[in-house]
Amino acid sequence: MKKPVIGLTPSLDSDHHTMQARLHYLQAIEAAGGIPLLLPPLSPDTVREASLVCDGLLFTGGVDVHPSRYGEEMLAACGEVCPQRDEMELSLLRLALERDLPVLGICRGIQLINVGLGGTLWQDLPSQTGSPLCHSQRPPFDMTVHTVRIEEASPLFSLLGTHEYAVNSTHHQAVRDCAPSLRAAARSSDGIIEAVWRPESRFLLGVQWHPEFRFASDKGAAALFSALVRSCG
Ligand code: MN
Repeated sequence: MKKPVIGLTPSLDSDHHTMQARLHYLQAIEAAGGIPLLLPPLSPDTVREASLVCDGLLFTGGVDVHPSRYGEEMLAACGEVCPQRDEMELSLLRLALERDLPVLGICRGIQLINVGLGGTLWQDLPSQTGSPLCHSQRPPFDMTVHTVRIEEASPLFSLLGTHEYAVNSTHHQAVRDCAPSLRAAARSSDGIIEAVWRPESRFLLGVQWHPEFRFASDKGAAALFSALVRSCG
């Protein structure tokens, strides 16, 4: 049987006119039985054509989504943004929803999905929420730093098989108001939403942590990539 092709989006470095993707994402998809395919931010027509080759999509980590995308002014504590990447990924998300393609979002990916579906973000957790938890850890990134509580009604609970799960954390933003069609699937002990899912989709899951750093050492991390690839069948 043909292996599912998973399209994923690189980070852009406009200063050097280059794009890059952490190999961990590609290796995690490969280990799960999929073929990773990088989708560059070219013209809308090319992005649409390229997306037709894909059986599923992975929205990866990266810089902050521009706050204008969720109707806010940019706060001083908002980080670097990349409007070109926002534009491309938001169209990819629309294309994926049209075809009900399986979608996994990681870190920026969960934020992008939430914004694309009409939700909002915390632009900066430390200054806006005063959370005492460490959400921006230092390396090594395969080390866990806080736990999340998994909602039993979510597909994440069937994938991880546990109520409490330890995660790594390298974000300063997070989902604030969940988009109307999304449901929270996990929260950290400070109440921040760390995972979402969309009941009406075949498979649409976003996580705020980074399973790509742990797919080789943690069954729960590998299970997320396997679920994405399996849902494409
Ligand atoms: Mn976190």
